[in-house]
Amino acid sequence: MSEKCLSLQECRAALTANGFDVYIARDPVHARQIFFEKILPEVKSGLVSWADSMTMEETGVLAELLANTEIEMIKTFDPEAERGEIIERRRQALLADLFLTGCNAVTANGKLVNLDMIGNRIGGISFGPKKVVLFVGQNKIVPDLESAFARIRNRAAPLNAMRQDFPTPCAKTGRCHDCNSPKRICNTWSILDKCFPAGRTKVVLIEGAFGL
Ligand code: SF4
Repeated sequence: MSEKCLSLQECRAALTANGFDVYIARDPVHARQIFFEKILPEVKSGLVSWADSMTMEETGVLAELLANTEIEMIKTFDPEAERGEIIERRRQALLADLFLTGCNAVTANGKLVNLDMIGNRIGGISFGPKKVVLFVGQNKIVPDLESAFARIRNRAAPLNAMRQDFPTPCAKTGRCHDCNSPKRICNTWSILDKCFPAGRTKVVLIEGAFGL
């Protein structure tokens, strides 16, 4: 496959053919507007939770949900909670009605590819929450699975290790060394070929580069 970048419209067509609901946003503000005006009323969610995503946070959706006292949230990130409590909340998050996060790569033929340290993010994306919303920058679109793996190993994961100040080899070199570090952030892969049931997962594609 050529290295030509897919347009957001082409990416939407490929994802839609695989059963995902897809929205295109001009920018993070528009993504937030789409979420609150179109997605949230449609999913009629009760309990909401999330997994780490810089792109999702850039939209402001999470901050607005947390500020709304009428929405019940499972706080999977909470500096005041102990590690054991956080892990328990992440287990509970898999039973949320609505689960929000991002995605490491989207292929030209509409597959979603992710890599996790713990697995709570890809766990929720795969099964459990009734509905899932993924916020994805245009920079995450890649030609094929091979490019997705390369992008994640040699860009997203090293940058993520640097962001968290983890002492992994990639945090020094910017490339994957398939390490045995106790802080290895690459442990569990997920590839969503198609959405089952159709429409369970909604993808908000955002014009521009966001996240890692
Ligand atoms: S396997 Fe290790 S070196 Fe490779 S990206 Fe993950 S944490 Fe970094």
